[in-house]
Amino acid sequence: MNGSKSVIEPSMETIVSLCKRRGFIFQSSEIYGGCNGFFDYGPLGVELRKNIKDAWWHDIVHCREDVVGIDCSIIMHPKVWQASGHIGGFSDPMVDCKESKLRYRADQLFFGEVIVAGENIGYISLLENGNMQTEADEKADSLKRKLGKQGLLEKVVLKPYTEAKPHEYILIPSPGTGKAGSLTPPRDFNLMFQTYIGALRDESAIAYLRPETAQGMFVNFRNVVDTSRVKVPFGIAQMGRSFRNEITPRNFVFRSREFEQMEMEYFIAPDADWEKLHADWIESRLNWHKSIGLREELLGLDVHPKNKLAHYSRACTDITFKYPFGVQELEGIAARGCFDLTQHQEASGKSLEYFDEEKKAKYLPHVIEPAVGVDRIFLAILCSAYDEDEIEGEKRTVLRFHPRMAPIKVGVFPLVKNKPELVEKSRNLYKKLQRRWPVAYDAAGAIGRRYRRMDEVGTPFGVTIDYETLENGTVTLRDRDTTKQIRLNETELFQFLDEKINP
Ligand code: ATP
Repeated sequence: MNGSKSVIEPSMETIVSLCKRRGFIFQSSEIYGGCNGFFDYGPLGVELRKNIKDAWWHDIVHCREDVVGIDCSIIMHPKVWQASGHIGGFSDPMVDCKESKLRYRADQLFFGEVIVAGENIGYISLLENGNMQTEADEKADSLKRKLGKQGLLEKVVLKPYTEAKPHEYILIPSPGTGKAGSLTPPRDFNLMFQTYIGALRDESAIAYLRPETAQGMFVNFRNVVDTSRVKVPFGIAQMGRSFRNEITPRNFVFRSREFEQMEMEYFIAPDADWEKLHADWIESRLNWHKSIGLREELLGLDVHPKNKLAHYSRACTDITFKYPFGVQELEGIAARGCFDLTQHQEASGKSLEYFDEEKKAKYLPHVIEPAVGVDRIFLAILCSAYDEDEIEGEKRTVLRFHPRMAPIKVGVFPLVKNKPELVEKSRNLYKKLQRRWPVAYDAAGAIGRRYRRMDEVGTPFGVTIDYETLENGTVTLRDRDTTKQIRLNETELFQFLDEKINP
């Protein structure tokens, strides 16, 4: 059954090729050669994506009394981004290779000195990945051999390019060409996409595609407080597209230039026990990821050290996931103090203070912010669900999606397609099921082949209409994970599916 342990940790190539082959994800504008950092979700991808978003909204907005939702425009007043600090500071350090014209994020480009017998014989460089140390030591060894050096080769100490000393810029080889001398010093690159509002193309018309959804919650704080019956502590949630002109979009949909975020600002009193609330949200979010089928052993927490926090931040913990390319941030849960409301209150000149009736006091609430990307969850679900096993001597690829996440919930099959009574009964059941869930009808080929097709796209249940159905109305229900079959009548079938799909 679902939850059975998968042992396979698929490679990125496996995931990417499955996504394309089965219609989960396509490269954007593929027939024109693609558009780097943008992706299109195909017929199955769009369903999985919707299931992730529906589950988040259901669990975080509908199932809580203290959270309401909003949906803001993607383009907001440019002053929003001035006040939030994005215009001044939303940048990544960038480095150019003058020879190859390739561009890198300086904090993802790593370098190290190659030291043989205590002497520096040069440098190596590589891009951040899950296997950096081994790769670095191999490169160092190859440099040593190339230069014919003798003596003990030290283990390479890797540092991000942002920590390179000015005299080292010309000594570090470019990862593109392997030669030194062509890398520029790192410089800041603002990640916001610019556009213009209206017909004029001057400074006054400049606007930005939002780089995060969070600011929508802050600038609407007053509106929500005035129009709904929320009382601190309460949250405002939003999901929607965000845009970042990432210097090096990579790792498939993990880091793209257009992606979808699901964020929540949980407003608390300034004297509240924020550490406890922060810890509660971390626990609740971690449990949520497990509940939708992310493998527990691939999930982790990364507590940001105090000296690495933004000046306004009190604490930040990332929920991490072990992707095929390494352990990376899946969701960030930050305790942001009252920085954003303070900034917007100052910049707009409008009071954003909250009047606490119980405390008979006015204040700017502080926030705890769980912020996650739909696309990163999507990839984590695929990596968690991918498995290969053997059935009746035949290799099978199976996606062990949690039934709540599965793009197709049930496959409906007449045992044979040339028996009109079986086909009619199957079509009727298919139509009935379709009113409740996304289901697929498949009458083509041997029944085993049809099961396999559904297994590969992660359909948790298969229903076969056979000769016994004609006699007593029961159908065969096959479980994707165990391949076990049971017989159920129609009422039992609906009840069974309901319990499994909508827990
Ligand atoms: P990173 O350090 O990986 O760039 P971040 O800390 O800048 O991420 P946040 O600003 O905290 O990310 O955004 C919240 C969430 O949005 C992230 O945890 C991630 O799931 C998602 N996200 C951010 N940038 C991207 C991107 N370029 N592509 C896909 N998802 C993203």
